[in-house]
Amino acid sequence: MVIQLEEKKTNLVISKKDKPLGALEVAKIQLEKAANKMNLDPNILAQLKEPERVLLVSVPVKMDNGKVKIFSGFRSQYNTARGPAKGGVRYHPNVCLDEVKALSAWMTWKCAIAGIPFGGGKGGIQCNPKEMSESELERLSRRYIFEISPIIGPKQDIPAPDVYTNPKIMGWYADTYNKMNHSADYATITGKPIDFWGSEGREEATARGLSDIVEEAAKYLKINPTKATVVVQGYGNAGSIAARLLHEQGYKIIGVSDSKGGIYNLEGIDPLDVLEHKNKSGTVSDYSKASSISNEDLLKLKCDVLVPAALESVITKENVYSIKAKVIAEAANGPVTPKADDILFKRGVFVIPDILANSGGVTVSYFEWVQGLYGYFWSKQKVNRRLKKLMVKAFGEILKISQKEKIDNRTAAYMYAISKVASSMKIRGIWP
Ligand code: NAD
Repeated sequence: MVIQLEEKKTNLVISKKDKPLGALEVAKIQLEKAANKMNLDPNILAQLKEPERVLLVSVPVKMDNGKVKIFSGFRSQYNTARGPAKGGVRYHPNVCLDEVKALSAWMTWKCAIAGIPFGGGKGGIQCNPKEMSESELERLSRRYIFEISPIIGPKQDIPAPDVYTNPKIMGWYADTYNKMNHSADYATITGKPIDFWGSEGREEATARGLSDIVEEAAKYLKINPTKATVVVQGYGNAGSIAARLLHEQGYKIIGVSDSKGGIYNLEGIDPLDVLEHKNKSGTVSDYSKASSISNEDLLKLKCDVLVPAALESVITKENVYSIKAKVIAEAANGPVTPKADDILFKRGVFVIPDILANSGGVTVSYFEWVQGLYGYFWSKQKVNRRLKKLMVKAFGEILKISQKEKIDNRTAAYMYAISKVASSMKIRGIWP
């Protein structure tokens, strides 16, 4: 199969001096852009530029070969004006303090947009979970949660899954925390397994929230899902479930990828069949009912909806002109750099920013927290119904701002989130 990846350039000019930005620089640029637009009080802005608290920990783990290896771990609590810090823990070789800070900033905005009573937090461990045995991972996870235990708790900071962490790891976290405190606490960790007081619907919540938002965007943009195509980069929790749910809405999935490479088939790909294959072989890239494509070229496929669902900064000034999607729904955090953002807006691409598009995960984490505090658990239907209500509301609020101000959706989302956080900060004041 041959595909055309023609490059059409617009007449926008980009400075050649632009250097690649880290996630934290990206987060700061986004914040300042929105703050300028809304004339944010400089005293509030100064506080919003830095996290409230960061914790660096050394995590010693006895490896299977008997040697002790020290891993670097992080936890950042960015802003807690609206409630306890909330955010996932990422296991990745490239995790660093600045990335964790940026992710915790994005969590702050996301929780404000979702209208849930949390601030933003995030954690990470610099490690390669793919090269570790299950027992090494368990020891790493339990020791990490012990190390950050002084600053977490149901009313302090509530960890959850992120890249390369999952319900099993959340179960180890929750068990360790409970054993340490001789208690039965169901609300300090979310994203737990259902049989350890997780919430129905949590595992697919990020993708479900995204598919609810894409449904709203499609109505607004008059896209008929049964005649539209989708490309998904990253086939983990967010990406694989987004592919399935969008397929259920009628979209044709024409390309997907993971860290080992991508596949495409313009006739359509069955997302469940690909997932079954990935579960057996460890990757989508050798799936036989589609052709191979690199992660870079996958992003350039002509499609209606592009879902980046892997890591940060994959759409940059270098490849933005090759993007042919009409809608970009950011399942991943920070997949589009600020320069690329400006160009996408000028080109009329409808970007649904991460802090809105993937807020379904933290929204159902909030539901899990509420259920854990009460010890009273809801059905999946109730979870999904309540999730959709919040997602649709948030989409409507942000669209109203972007239309009124004639600005991109990301800046509108930031303005909406910042105004909520700033209002809480003003009410609470600076102590002492
Ligand atoms: P995951 O670990 O379940 O999946 C990550 C996927 O990305 C895997 O398929 C992996 O192979 C792929 N990947 C890694 N590097 C890649 C690369 N260079 N190119 C292409 N694919 C690559 O993680 P996840 O939970 O699905 O998270 C994915 C993104 O969604 C992250 O940005 C995360 O912060 C964001 N997110 C996740 C949640 C959640 O609840 N899981 C919530 C909000 C946002």
